Amino acid sequence: MRVLTDEHSGCCNGVGRAISVAENYLKEHGTLYSLGAIVHNDAEIRRLAGLGLRTAGYDDLPSLRGSTVLIRAHGEPPSTYKLAERSGVRLIDCTCPVVLALQKKIAAKYAGLSSAGGTVIIFGKRGHAEVNGLVGQTDGRAVVVENMADLEDKLSSRVIDVSRPLALFSQTTKDPEEFVALAARLREECPSLEVYDTVCRHVSSRHRALREFAASCSVIIFVCGRESSNGKVLFDLCRSVNPRSYKVESADEIPDGIFRPDDTVGICGATSTIRWQLDKVAEAVSKL
Ligand code: SF4
Repeated sequence: MRVLTDEHSGCCNGVGRAISVAENYLKEHGTLYSLGAIVHNDAEIRRLAGLGLRTAGYDDLPSLRGSTVLIRAHGEPPSTYKLAERSGVRLIDCTCPVVLALQKKIAAKYAGLSSAGGTVIIFGKRGHAEVNGLVGQTDGRAVVVENMADLEDKLSSRVIDVSRPLALFSQTTKDPEEFVALAARLREECPSLEVYDTVCRHVSSRHRALREFAASCSVIIFVCGRESSNGKVLFDLCRSVNPRSYKVESADEIPDGIFRPDDTVGICGATSTIRWQLDKVAEAVSKL
């Protein structure tokens, strides 16, 4: 049995940067709070907790006066910065530069559209931290569309008013092909629709490379946290080209009896999967 690790897998720049900022701070100060889970990956959170990283919620901020709180790569809405200021916490802002640029783009577009009664639409997962940060740029008025069925609902119920100016953006980790399909459908109803493909280039190039990798292996072991929305998208992509794809959080979740002696096993993961996790799974599979 051959074991290959996808060279393009491993966490993205935005998440990797937030983790190294946290590690460096912890080395010097011993304790740091992250507002929400720093990464959707329980194993990595456990490792960082061992270094002193604590996860805090919005309600905890008033009791953390004088402490230092990290804003993760997903970013936050403007209301969070106001709450942090009122609560007297010091912020280390690790919003990914790509997300920050997207927030600014949405805020500027919203300022232009709202006077004309227009709407900002965001293709994303409702309630996801990044999406909350994006919706926050529009005073909470952006419409979030999760998928094609959701779009059809919002068109028929006129939650999306196609007679008004519309601008469509995407959460950075969504499927680029699904975004293109949604934009095409919405444009049928609203020819003047403005479309901004804001899927992160790291994610869209990952899609192409991962499809080829998954198709070239006989079995895929996809490593990611259960809460990772990008993990779900990328795993579904693997399964669409390789039906022998399995999603696990760690090597002990690999089902028994799935390998054959002549298999080429591909190990890959989401944008929140850290390289050491892929290496550990690859090592465990090599020993089978
Ligand atoms: S997926 Fe892209 S935009 Fe999102 S955190 Fe990672 S690098 Fe930044």
